[in-house]
Amino acid sequence: MVNITFPDGGQKQFADNPTGLDVAKSISEGFARNCVAMELNGTLVDLMTPITEDSTVRLITTKDPEALDILRHSASHVMAQAILHIYADAKLTIGPAVEDGFYYDIDMAPVSEDDFSKIESEMAKAVKAKLPFVRREVSKTEALDFYKDEPYKSEMISELDEGTISFYAHGDFTDFCRGPHLPHTGFVKAFKLTKVSGAYWRADQTKAQLQRIYGTAFFDKKELKQYLYLREEAKRRNHRKIGQAMELFSFHDEAPGMPFFHAKGMELWNALLDLWRAEHRLAGYVETKTPIMLNIGLWERSGHMENYRENMYTTTVDEMGYAIKPMNCPGGMLIYGNRPHSYRELPIRAAEVGLVHRHELSGVLAGLFRVRAFHQDDAHLFMTSDQIQDEIIGILKLSERLYGAFGLGFELELSTRPEKSIGTDEQWATATSGLQSALDVYGHAYRLNEGDGAFYGPKIDLHIKDALGRTWQCGTIQLDMSMPERFDLTYVDSDNQRRRPIMIHRTIFGSIERFLGILIEHFAGKFPLWMAPVQAVFLPINDALIAEAQKIEIEFRKAGLRTEIDHRTESLNRKIRDAQLAKIPLILTIGEKEKESGTLAVRTLDGAVRYGVPVEELLQKLQAHVKARRLSLEDLTLT
Ligand SMILES: [Zn+2]
Ligand SMILES: [Zn+2]
Repeated sequence: MVNITFPDGGQKQFADNPTGLDVAKSISEGFARNCVAMELNGTLVDLMTPITEDSTVRLITTKDPEALDILRHSASHVMAQAILHIYADAKLTIGPAVEDGFYYDIDMAPVSEDDFSKIESEMAKAVKAKLPFVRREVSKTEALDFYKDEPYKSEMISELDEGTISFYAHGDFTDFCRGPHLPHTGFVKAFKLTKVSGAYWRADQTKAQLQRIYGTAFFDKKELKQYLYLREEAKRRNHRKIGQAMELFSFHDEAPGMPFFHAKGMELWNALLDLWRAEHRLAGYVETKTPIMLNIGLWERSGHMENYRENMYTTTVDEMGYAIKPMNCPGGMLIYGNRPHSYRELPIRAAEVGLVHRHELSGVLAGLFRVRAFHQDDAHLFMTSDQIQDEIIGILKLSERLYGAFGLGFELELSTRPEKSIGTDEQWATATSGLQSALDVYGHAYRLNEGDGAFYGPKIDLHIKDALGRTWQCGTIQLDMSMPERFDLTYVDSDNQRRRPIMIHRTIFGSIERFLGILIEHFAGKFPLWMAPVQAVFLPINDALIAEAQKIEIEFRKAGLRTEIDHRTESLNRKIRDAQLAKIPLILTIGEKEKESGTLAVRTLDGAVRYGVPVEELLQKLQAHVKARRLSLEDLTLT
């Protein structure tokens, strides 16, 4: 008899070494149909594995988080089989599950996306046949013999220790693999090949170039459809494409990885920074600015020369070594240390939108998402240890207002002391409990990342969620026990003793450049009125009305609105279409009737038009709308 214990503590006895499938069937046939694997005494194994001794068993169904990786990895076997059916001399290497799906690296003639449909229909045959994945164990010698004509597989096997090697077969296809796999290929019914790229064997440029064919799979066709829709939508919203079309920014070989912001991009930038400054002023921050180039002595003192040297741009001036700042911190420390401080001044909240440069390899640069020069919305807060909780809550509330201005939600993550760290147990305990109690009082759920803090202190990371459900880590709140020490920062406490302040670094947008990239994709270029680079375009319906448009435009500009007049001799329909393509929120037409009555025809991007809106009324409503930074023009109720 074999005694099986379930996660809920329940137990069941079986005769004759049951498989996971037998155990599942003993619960119900319907349940068993949704089981794909099991966790046997803590290890994921195939559902068909016989259970030979008393064990704990957790059955993995299609709903469990582990199931998706098993599905996708199994799908890579199905794809490899299909490819061998079509391209007989293709040589297989490895085929893992990855974050969004799976891939297989294969030595074969280049394929393109045009070849996907024939591979997919070959895969569909295996799916339809519901071929079982059958495991068998062989010796290393047998494995090498099996793969004698497969150079990559035999290379991998020859590197393994002696002992048994597991093979998995479905239909006419065998792969050597640790597993586990699905019970049969029928589960792979919702799959799609997604892209192909080049990859080197063992990521080594001197070795063979392989075709890396990517695909994805889901248990449910609806989920696959949703995934593919979001993927297309992300492509459509690509910030580089929209940035080019809207003339927001560009990149040039003369400064790789360093964005050039054009006039319209600067309007966006300034709208963002205006919000940032207004909110920071309300939250009791002051703003500072420090040089972008500082001497090497400073970077030695801050520890950057030791820990960050390879990412820094350096130069020599008047025989003195300098580095361009990769972070704003040391400059901020010098300002704090410039004069003595009293406990009565604390907390000090000093923000700096500082331009930093970090050398990144050219291969990883990606539009505004990964650059070499960017502005961080940094701040350094200096406080006493009993102010930690309130300051953290203050930063969380400020973040909530700033993200909320774009309709972005966020998630929190607390990272605690890593193995390698500076500071005493007591310092870490005070710092970590300060962060934790702030999170508890703030009352927003958070994830705990044990041991993932910086060596100089614990931290809270803020991940925003965009309109496509993608998450981006933007904000970070880091307590630092190292900098105040290195820069010998102090304050005079109420008992006249000099003490070290607690110091926090924090960003909310993170990199302004990257945050703008995220916003471009989040809004698909259709920014809320308060941000839009051009808020309204005037379309006089003939040349005689241009003067009238100019007269009204002056009033709009006096009200702080960003406007343009389309003077071109194009048809009105063409001008409307171009304004829509440029994603200008308000298209204002002026004809003779409008001129006489002092009104405008107001067209919004959703296609709605309102005729005879008095100029005065429109101006007042737009001003109030922009001032309140409303997200949607639907709130702009016009008579
Ligand atoms: Zn496998
Ligand atoms: Zn800092």
